[in-house]
Amino acid sequence: MDFDLNEEQRATREALRAFLTKECPIEYVRECDEKEVYPFELYKKLAEQGWLGIPIAEEYGGTGGSCLDLVLFLEEFARHFEAGANIYYTSIVIAADAIGHFGTEDQKKTLLPKLARGELRFAFSLSEPGSGSDAASLRTKAVREGDEWVINGQKMFCSSAQVADYILLMARTDSEAPKHKGITMFLLDPKTPGVEIRRLKKLGLKPMDLNEIFLTDVRIPADCVIGEVNHGWTNVLKTLDYERCCLSAVNVGAAQSVLEKCLTYTNEREQFGQKIGSFQLTRAKLADMEMEIDASRLLTYRSATLVDKGIQNNKESAIGNLASSETYVRAALNGMRIMGGWGYLMEYDMQRHYRDSKLAEIGGGTSEILRIVISREMQKAHG
Ligand SMILES: Cc1cc2nc3c(=O)[nH]c(=O)nc-3n(C[C@H](O)[C@H](O)[C@H](O)COP(=O)(O)OP(=O)(O)OC[C@H]3O[C@@H](n4cnc5c(N)ncnc54)[C@H](O)[C@@H]3O)c2cc1C
Repeated sequence: MDFDLNEEQRATREALRAFLTKECPIEYVRECDEKEVYPFELYKKLAEQGWLGIPIAEEYGGTGGSCLDLVLFLEEFARHFEAGANIYYTSIVIAADAIGHFGTEDQKKTLLPKLARGELRFAFSLSEPGSGSDAASLRTKAVREGDEWVINGQKMFCSSAQVADYILLMARTDSEAPKHKGITMFLLDPKTPGVEIRRLKKLGLKPMDLNEIFLTDVRIPADCVIGEVNHGWTNVLKTLDYERCCLSAVNVGAAQSVLEKCLTYTNEREQFGQKIGSFQLTRAKLADMEMEIDASRLLTYRSATLVDKGIQNNKESAIGNLASSETYVRAALNGMRIMGGWGYLMEYDMQRHYRDSKLAEIGGGTSEILRIVISREMQKAHG
C-alpha cells in the first residue's frame, strides 16, 4: 500500500497551485461570489492550459487522467475556489464521464474535443419537484414520434443550466416498466423551443446558477440519446463511484481551505493577552479538523484508486463522500466559532464556507441516503 503521491502527481499539483495562485486569487473568488457570476475568464484560462481535458481520453482531445488525477485536481481547485471546482464537476466531469462511457463514436468525436477546449458546457438534470432522493421515480416523459422525441415535464435543481450548451436530461421513456428500467438520458439543446429555464435563489455556491426547467412539447432528433433507450439509470449507476470521488475531493479541498484560514486567524487574533491559538479549546478544534480532513482525504484517494483499478466500490465511495461532506460542514461551523463575531461579517471568507458547505451534505446523495447505501452494502456482505 502506497500513501505517497508519485513525482508526476506532485509536480502536476505544484503547477496547478502556481496557476491558481496567479489566475484565481481570493479577490476573484470573492467577486464571483458577491456578484453571483460564472467564472468564464478562469475557465478560458483552464482550457488554454489543458486542465479541462483531465476526464477526457487522449484520443478525444483530453489528457486522459485517472480518477486519482481528477481527484487531486479537484481537491486543489476547491482549496482555492470551491464553487469553481463544483462548476467543473457539473459542467465538465459528469458529461465527459457519461459521453465517454455511453456515447456513440460520433457523439464522442463531436462533443468531447470541444468540451476539452472549453467550447462547450454541460448541465445534468435528474431531479424533479417530486423526485429527489428517490430520483428514479421521475415523471418527465419522452415519447417517440417518427424521427423525434417529444419531451414534457418539469425538472428541479439543475446546476449551471443557464450557461450550458447542452443539458443531459433524464426522462421516462417506458411508463410500464419498473421505475429504474424505463429511463433514458437525452442530449438536450436548451435553446430548443419549449424549454424554459428559471434561475432559483439559493444560500451558497453563488457563482454556480441553480435552475428549474419547464419542458413543453420539446422536440429533439431521435439520435439525441446518450446510451441505450430505457437504460439511462444504468448510466447513472455505473458512474456513481467516480462521481462521488469527485465530490469528496471538492469537500476535502474546501475543508482544507477552512483549516488554513483558521490557522492564520488563530495565530493573529489575541484575547486575554494571548493568541487565541494558544487556548486549548481552540487547539482541540484545529486538531479535530486536521484529523477529519486527513481521514477524508485518504478515504477519497482509496475510493479513486479502486475506481482506477476497475473495482466497483459503492460502500467505499459513499463512505468517502459522507466523511468528507460532514467534515467540511463541521470545519466551516468550527471556523465560524473560531472567528467569533468576525466570521459573521461578509468581508471575511468564513461565512462563504459556512453557506457553501451545506450542499456537500445534499448533492450526490444526502447524508441519510449515503448512510443507507453504506449499511445496505455492509448487510449484503454480511449475508
Ligand atoms: C445547490 C444544489 C444543486 C443541485 N444540483 C443538481 C443538479 O445539477 N442536477 C440534479 O439532478 N439535481 C441537483 N440537485 C438536487 C439534489 O440532488 C437533491 O436535492 C438531493 O438528491 C435531495 O433531494 P431532495 O432535495 O428532493 O430531498 P428529499 O429526497 O425530499 O429528502 C428530504 C429529506 O428526507 C430524507 N430522506 C429521503 N429519503 C429517505 C430515506 N429513504 N431514508 C431516510 N431519509 C430519507 C433526505 O435525506 C432529506 O433529509 C441539486 C441540489 C442543490 C441544493
